Amino acid sequence: NTGETKMMVEAHELLKKFYHHLLVNTNEGQKALDYLQDRGWTREIIDQFEIGYAPNSWDFAVKLLSGRGFSLELMEKAGLIIRKENGDYFDRFRHRIMFPILNHHGDTVGFSGRLLGEGQPKYLNSPETAIFHKGKILYNFHQARLHIRKHQEVILLEGFADVISAVQAGVAHSVATMGTALTEEHARILRRNVDTVIICYDGDASGIEATFRAAEVLTEAGCHVKIATIPDGLDPDEYIRKYGPDRFRRDIIDAGSSLMAFKMMYFRKGKNLQDENDKIRYIEEVLREISKLPNPIEWDYYLRQLADEFSLSLSALQEQLNRYKGTVK
Ligand code: ATP
Ligand code: MN
Ligand code: MN
Ligand code: MN
Repeated sequence: NTGETKMMVEAHELLKKFYHHLLVNTNEGQKALDYLQDRGWTREIIDQFEIGYAPNSWDFAVKLLSGRGFSLELMEKAGLIIRKENGDYFDRFRHRIMFPILNHHGDTVGFSGRLLGEGQPKYLNSPETAIFHKGKILYNFHQARLHIRKHQEVILLEGFADVISAVQAGVAHSVATMGTALTEEHARILRRNVDTVIICYDGDASGIEATFRAAEVLTEAGCHVKIATIPDGLDPDEYIRKYGPDRFRRDIIDAGSSLMAFKMMYFRKGKNLQDENDKIRYIEEVLREISKLPNPIEWDYYLRQLADEFSLSLSALQEQLNRYKGTVK
């Protein structure tokens, strides 16, 4: 129903403006503004992303929306308010930093609300609604689109905080999923706009695991994948705060490696390649990955690399590779 979805978007736009006003112009929002500025975000970037503050109230949104004539029943369907047993409504988002989520046309269709400090849940997202589909939305895609086209690549990050810091650091072609794994739909959207996706997820164990999964989905969709790895378990936002924007661009983004180089680095971890057993396990793991590559030129390239590094005959590697190729697919 287009009338209803239009009203839902309008309600989001209205709330977004009020939340932003509360953040930047009122005493009520001062603590939230301090929090954001302590994180290193400038007033300019806070305005650009239209970040706001949902006050510590059970009925701020309820009153504002009903006062403007929005049906509360519809606002509940939009995920902005919640209905109690007795039929009363209350605000979903209270005392949180509010990040508006725009769809690819630039309509505001959801929010993610962050606690001002530690605690659970750290981020509270809008539920799935008629206008908000987590599996299709990429945070900042609307603003990044032209930069993505211009650079002929896109930087895929794990969280919105990372996107905001990356954009502030001058990497405008940055997007993130909504705290969920990358879907085939996300990959198709990216593929329609670029060839190359640089995955730059958090440097912790779950980020590395998610990198493998996202790389597979993207490769499957026909994207060329590169990996930018962050050291010391940091995430991009923390890295930028610690080392500054220049090093982020130079040592992380521009230094991105191929997917195979990333996998090799990963397989090397915790192994001693002077040790016979570790060395053989490593070679087998790499061969298995090579066998999954679609392109014979790539097989040849990586086989030669392995042969050189470990002084092995190309024909032995080739034979083992053929065995693996028989077992995959
Ligand atoms: P921050 O820097 O503000 O702590 P982050 O992006 O580093 O945030 P992570 O813990 O790395 O947070 O999580 C990555 C992403 O996963 C977040 O951006 C968010 O989308 C999602 N996420 C994290 N925690 C939650 C949660 N409790 N509920 C819903 N989504 C969450
Ligand atoms: Mn740019
Ligand atoms: Mn993180
Ligand atoms: Mn973070």
